[in-house]
Amino acid sequence: MPISSESIKTNAADLGFHSIGIVPAGALDVESSRLREWLDRGFHASMSWMENHLDKRLDVRKLMPGARSIIVTASNYYTPYAHDGSQGKVSRYAWGDDYHDVVRGKLSKLLDLIRSDEPNVIGKICVDTVPFMDKAWAVRAGLGWIGKHSNLITKDIGSWVFIGSLIVDVELQYDHGIVEDHCGTCTACLDACPTNAIVEPYVVDSGRCISYGTIEHRGDTLPDKIASNLDGWIYGCDVCQDVCPWNRFETPTEESSFEPRNGETTLDADTVINMTHEDYVERFRASAIKRAKLSGLQRNAKYLVE
Ligand code: SF4
Repeated sequence: MPISSESIKTNAADLGFHSIGIVPAGALDVESSRLREWLDRGFHASMSWMENHLDKRLDVRKLMPGARSIIVTASNYYTPYAHDGSQGKVSRYAWGDDYHDVVRGKLSKLLDLIRSDEPNVIGKICVDTVPFMDKAWAVRAGLGWIGKHSNLITKDIGSWVFIGSLIVDVELQYDHGIVEDHCGTCTACLDACPTNAIVEPYVVDSGRCISYGTIEHRGDTLPDKIASNLDGWIYGCDVCQDVCPWNRFETPTEESSFEPRNGETTLDADTVINMTHEDYVERFRASAIKRAKLSGLQRNAKYLVE
């Protein structure tokens, strides 16, 4: 008996995924030219890994030979807290436990459940660490649209969602409903960005983005455009999503792993500057904040105390 998409969706809901869509595996065409243009304009800044494995990034059948279907999920990570202060602000996505681990763990359980019906199914989990265009697939799967700030927006709970996908080598029943773009004439995110990083609707110049600068950028100093408009952020930035009218539909998650660790939504800059490597490892074990490394966090913190 073929595996039922309906039972996969029921299991996914039981595991706590907010929404799920299932689409056939294949190539991304329109998205391919957009990605290439973005790379050609140098908007990936120092993230040279974005240029790698383009063949796999643009066709999941090259990422996973034998791929037939993609199960795309969105996990709500909104928790009803604000930042503790205006300095040392940490992006909302990194308040709780590392979403890579949390979402990967749930997708792994989902794959186990699929295998309980069909033991030979091969699956590949994609949560940001493989060359896979998760936002493009989330749109194809009908989970939402890409806002002018370039994040996925769901119509029912806004943009505070993590995307996680499971590629499998079996055919399933597919979703066809696409959510149209509901940004309309709004330009709130473009207007609010402290560094004007959204250079035109749907196009972010990473080299100007506070989130890129404080997390991905390596080096002893931040790019000038970011350093002079840091706006109190020590790790990431939420401004474009904070101002988005679609986040009036934000709804607290039921996933306790995404609650702020130690109740903290900001980090004290002096504490970070004086942190030893041992302190850092202990404090940020299983946290997404590790991505910036201690040297990056301390570099960011120094700008906040200058
Ligand atoms: S702030 Fe406005 S333009 Fe930006 S993503 Fe939200 S709805 Fe779209």
